[in-house]
Amino acid sequence: MRIVFIGPPGSGKGTQAKRLIEHLSIVHLSTGDMLRQARTDGTELGQQAAEYMDSGKLVPDELVVGIVVERISQPDCQSGCLFDGFPRTINQAEALDAELEKRETPVDMVLELTVDPEELTRRMLKRAEIEGRADDTPDTIANRMKVYQEQTSPLLNYYRQRGKLVSIEGTGTPDEVFERIRAAVDT
Ligand code: ADP
Repeated sequence: MRIVFIGPPGSGKGTQAKRLIEHLSIVHLSTGDMLRQARTDGTELGQQAAEYMDSGKLVPDELVVGIVVERISQPDCQSGCLFDGFPRTINQAEALDAELEKRETPVDMVLELTVDPEELTRRMLKRAEIEGRADDTPDTIANRMKVYQEQTSPLLNYYRQRGKLVSIEGTGTPDEVFERIRAAVDT
């Protein structure tokens, strides 16, 4: 099973992604995690991505598509995977569709986690205090929200038109939200 998971920064996507991959026993493909790992490893990709990540901008499509294509070619991804934080642009969605079509393993379902904007900002600022992630400063958060609105939210229509979009209400306890996700993927 191939699932794309879409949600704005602060929507709780990371928490729910962890539960979902366990529930479905599929690989977690998080481009945010992969890029952070590349930076830690000091690879060329990591260095190229760093300046974009630190200002809350999207890393160029060709870099991100490159790492995703490499990852989905590995054996453990053949039985399924959860795309988390990818695609983030229409361009990336088209590239992913083309790659998956070649392999005859299309995206089965796209889950969107919805949370209202004020709640999102509140959660993000709280997380910034607790976790101290380098890109969780108020300026970067605002920028990531804007990038989501401008570049990622058009994907919702892209997948809606293809009959793949399922929207999940992201407010409530993590358990409550996961229950909704489980119900959606189990049907
Ligand atoms: P968030 O928690 O804000 O959703 P992620 O952990 O998914 O963020 O990603 C962190 C940063 O990594 C992004 O702000 C962006 O710079 C980069 N990034 C991750 N995935 C992508 C992608 N699919 N396309 C471009 N940039 C990406």
